[in-house]
Amino acid sequence: MSQITPQPGIMDIALYEGGASKVEGVANVVKLSSNENPLGPSPKAIAAAQAAMARMNRYPSSDHAELRAAIAEVHGLDASRIICGAGSDEVLCFLCQGFAGPGDEVVYTEHGFGMYRIYALGSGATPVVAPERDRVVDVDAILAACTEKTRLVFIANPANPTGTMVDRADLVRLAEGIPGRAILVLDGAYAEFADGYDGGAALVEARDNVVMTRTFSKLYGLGGLRIGWGYGPKPVIDVLNRLRGPFNLSDVQLRAAEAAVRDRDYATSCQKENARLRNWLAAELGKLGVPSDQSYANFILARFADSDEVDACDAFLKSQGLIVRKVAGYGLSDCLRITVGDEDSCRRVVDAIRAFKEQSE
Ligand code: PMP
Repeated sequence: MSQITPQPGIMDIALYEGGASKVEGVANVVKLSSNENPLGPSPKAIAAAQAAMARMNRYPSSDHAELRAAIAEVHGLDASRIICGAGSDEVLCFLCQGFAGPGDEVVYTEHGFGMYRIYALGSGATPVVAPERDRVVDVDAILAACTEKTRLVFIANPANPTGTMVDRADLVRLAEGIPGRAILVLDGAYAEFADGYDGGAALVEARDNVVMTRTFSKLYGLGGLRIGWGYGPKPVIDVLNRLRGPFNLSDVQLRAAEAAVRDRDYATSCQKENARLRNWLAAELGKLGVPSDQSYANFILARFADSDEVDACDAFLKSQGLIVRKVAGYGLSDCLRITVGDEDSCRRVVDAIRAFKEQSE
């Protein structure tokens, strides 16, 4: 009998599902389940990636200096305190590896992003879940869940899959209230969709216990390339850099991301289009008796009567070529998360849900 055993809790992790982009026997399928940018990346990012392909015999930059400089310039940050990863996922993973081990606790919230638990378990730490209040992160509940063993507190702002946000005053309260050895991680995967929000950058600047993570997968339309970054106090970023593989990003990734972040006109047009269609989609679904909380991201969390209606609606949408996301795994079995697609996709979603509601009357 083998004595090989994984870390505690690993075998309770469900394998990731959700990448489907086809429905058997249905044409004209649109995937609205992964919060991707329906408009695609900036043409400048595509050109930069193509040019980098010609140099693939060469190892890429190991310090990501040019990408970090571009991010720093655009966001007004200190380039030496930026770390780039293969998706923001990798930065979240480095945070767990670097700061939480056996006996330590990692706090996140009831409907929090699934990778927080997985990375906590992967580094041998104990996940601790704080309740939310009506699908909104509850700062007091997080503070109550913290102990002297807490090393990391993860919140996504805006949150996935709820799309809700906590305001700056609450973020400050959280940063001030967590135990001395804990780091507050503000996951800003959707920060660019929240008008006027800096992703927590000002709070990172003001404190020595806050890290922000960001991604090129959402607004910048580069989910397929896997690029993210983090910004934090120098001593924290120094730890993460020691864990980082020297060539964790290819030149294709680096060049595409640099061109994408510098193309402000394209990014702004994607932000505007998302806000317009998100608000329209939420309003139209509301009229059909499918409410949602105000979303600050590029998806909406549509609420139904119960999980039976969710299952039936999900199946109906699939039959119409619309793939959305069930979020029962996040404790939201009466909801479907729907990415804001392009105008045609949004209209198709509204028409399909109207037809679904009519046929079930
Ligand atoms: N955080 C949140 C809240 C997310 O929803 C996602 C992607 N679904 C990520 C982080 C990771 O994104 P990526 O690794 O593509 O940067």
